[in-house]
Amino acid sequence: MKTWHDGLVPKAPLGMAEGAVSAEAPFAAERAQLTVNSIGDAVMSTDVTGKITYLNPAAERITGWSREVVAGHPVGDVYRVIDGTTREAVPSPTALAIREDRTVTLPPNCVLIRRDGVEVPIEDSAAPIHDHRGYVTGAVTVFRDVSTTRALALRMAHQAQHDVLTDLPNRLLLNDRLTQAMALARRQKTKLAVLFLDLDRFKHINDSLGHDIGDRLLQAVARRLVGCVRGSDTVSRHGGDEFVILLPQVRRARDAAVSAEKILLALNAPHRIEQHDLHLTVSMGIATYPEDGADAQTLMRHADLALLHAKDAGGNRYRFFKARMNARAIERQLLEHGLRHAMARNEFVLYFQPQVDLRTGTIIAAEALIRWRHPQRGLVPPAQFMPVAEDCGLMVPIGRWVLHEACRQARVWQQDPNLRPIRIAVNISTAELRNADFVAAVRDTLTTTGLAPRYLELELTESFLMQDASSTVAELQALKRMGVRLALDDFGTGYASLTCLKRFPIGRLKIDQSCVRDLAHDARLVRAMIRMGNSLGMRVVAEGIQTRLQRALLQQEGCPEGQGFHFSRPLLAAEFTPLLGCHALQPPSPRRSSKRTSPPLRGERLYTHGSSRLRKQSGRQPYGA
Ligand code: C2E
Ligand code: MG
Ligand code: MG
Repeated sequence: MKTWHDGLVPKAPLGMAEGAVSAEAPFAAERAQLTVNSIGDAVMSTDVTGKITYLNPAAERITGWSREVVAGHPVGDVYRVIDGTTREAVPSPTALAIREDRTVTLPPNCVLIRRDGVEVPIEDSAAPIHDHRGYVTGAVTVFRDVSTTRALALRMAHQAQHDVLTDLPNRLLLNDRLTQAMALARRQKTKLAVLFLDLDRFKHINDSLGHDIGDRLLQAVARRLVGCVRGSDTVSRHGGDEFVILLPQVRRARDAAVSAEKILLALNAPHRIEQHDLHLTVSMGIATYPEDGADAQTLMRHADLALLHAKDAGGNRYRFFKARMNARAIERQLLEHGLRHAMARNEFVLYFQPQVDLRTGTIIAAEALIRWRHPQRGLVPPAQFMPVAEDCGLMVPIGRWVLHEACRQARVWQQDPNLRPIRIAVNISTAELRNADFVAAVRDTLTTTGLAPRYLELELTESFLMQDASSTVAELQALKRMGVRLALDDFGTGYASLTCLKRFPIGRLKIDQSCVRDLAHDARLVRAMIRMGNSLGMRVVAEGIQTRLQRALLQQEGCPEGQGFHFSRPLLAAEFTPLLGCHALQPPSPRRSSKRTSPPLRGERLYTHGSSRLRKQSGRQPYGA
C-alpha cells in the first residue's frame, strides 16, 4: 500500500555542495525558532512520513492541541480540514507538498475542525523542507484563522445583494434569481410568475407622518410579505415603496392570483406603528413566464405595466399583464416622443370658439383651444395629449406658448379698426399655475404682445382652487391686481363650495356642458348654479350649448352668456375673423332650415352677418363633436 510520503523526490539544493554546513547554523536555528514562536501565523512542521515534529504557540491555539501531546502523531490527527460548503474532507496539503515537492495551498472556503470540534475557517500554505543535499525531509505548513475576514467578506457580499432597510434581496439578487429560475423553467418546461407590488398612497403617509414612520411601515410590509409566500419564493425590495416577488414554481396563472389575493388580505390589516394605526392597500401587476416575456427584463417591464393598470383602476387590486397593455404603452411612448418635438416643429395650433351674449348673439369673447397638428395622425385633441404633456413636464412650455399666441392674436384683432375688441379666454392647467414664475410670465406676455390685461381671462379648474388654498389665494390676488380676469371652468363637475368660491377673486363661472346637456330634463341644477353665481356677483357662461332649446332655457333661467356648437365650433383665427365683423351670431331659424334634419355637418358652420345669412363650408376637419 502506498503511503502519502511515497514517491518523495530528492532534489539538489541550488548553489550548495553536498555535506556543506554553515558555521552560522546553530545561531540561525535559534533565531528562526524565536521568530516562529512569536509570529501570529500558525506554523506546523512534519517529518517526511507526515508525523508532527513541531507546533508553534499560534498553531496550538488554532488546533487546540499542544506540541507535547501531538509530537510524533500523524498530521491528519491534528489538522482535519473540510470544505465549508460541501463538508467533505479536503486532502492534506502537507502530504501533497512532500509528495510533489512543491508549495501547496488549500482551496478557498476551507474549515479546520479544532480538537474540541469547533470549526475555524482557515487559509494555509504547505511547503516541502529540504536537507542540505536537497532531499525532502518534511514539510512546514503555515495557516491562519480567517474567521474575521471571511465574516466581513460574507457581510459585504450580503450587503451588496440586500436592501439595507428591510434586509430583503435587492434588485441585483432578484435579477440573478429570476434569470436562474427562468433557465430552470425553460429546461423543465414549467412556469414562473413575477409580481410587481407598489403601496397605494405611500407618499402621503411619508409626507404627513415623516420618513421614520414611512421606513418602519416598509419594514412591516416586508415582514408580512415574507410571511405570505413560500420559502422557495423571493420577496425583494425594488426601491421606494416597490417590491417584486418571484414565484419560481407556479403550475398555472391562477396560482399567482392566489398569492396576490393572500398578499392583499395580509396587508389590509392595519399596521400599528407607534401610536398610529396605518391602513394600507397595495396594487400588483403579474407577468408569467413563458407567456409574457422570454427574458427577465421584458417580464419585469410587463409586470410593471400591469401594475400601472391596477393603479389606474383605483388600486387595492392586482392585474395580469395583457398584450394590449403593451400596445397602449407603445402608443403613449410614441405620443410622448412626438410631443417633445411638437413645439420646435411648430405643430401646435390654436382654435378659437366664440362666447356670445345670449340675448343679442354678439360675440363678447373667444376661448383659445389648443390642438396638435400631428404629421401622421392629423388634428389631435387636447384630451389626448395634454395628460401626456403633464406627465412628461411639458405643460409649462406648452402653456406659455398658448398664452403668448392667444394674446398676440387678440391684439391683432384689436388693431383692426373694423372689429370690436373682445376678451380672450385661455385655459390654464394646474401645473402651469403651480409654477413659481406664472404671474411674472403673464405680465411679460401682456407686455410683449401689448394686450391690455382686462382683455385676458384665465380659465382655472376647481381642482386647482381646492389645493393649498393660502398660496392659491395670494397668486390669484396678484393676477387680479394686474387687471387680468379669472374664470372658473367646468363648474359643476367638482366640489367647489360656496364658501370656497368666496375666497377667490373669480369673476366668471363657466357652467360645464354636462349640466347644460341635462337641462331639458331637469333645470334645477343649472338654476342653482346661476343663482349661486349671481349671489357671488359673478358672470355666468354656459358651455356646450348645442340647441336652440338649451339656449332658450338658459336665457329663461337668467344665464347671460353662452358658448357651444349652436353658435360656432372652435375655428382657426382666419376663420374666426369674419365672425368678429358680424353683428350677431345667430343660428338659422327652424322655419328657414326646416329641410335640415341632421345637425350641421362636420366642419360646417352657419352664421348671420347683419341681415344676410352666409353658409360656409370650411375644409377643415374639426374634432371634438
Ligand atoms: P374646456 O376649457 O371646457 O373647453 C371646452 C371644450 O368643449 C372644448 O373642447 C370645445 O371644443 C368643446 N365644446 C365647445 N362647445 C361644445 C359643444 O357645444 N358640444 C360639445 N360636445 N363640446 C363643445 P376641446 O377643445 O377638446 O378642449 C377640451 C379641454 O381641453 C378644454 O375644456 C380644456 O380644459 C383643455 N384645453 C384646451 N386647450 C387648452 C390649452 O390651451 N391649455 C390647457 N391647459 N387646457 C386646454
Ligand atoms: Mg375652458
Ligand atoms: Mg369647460
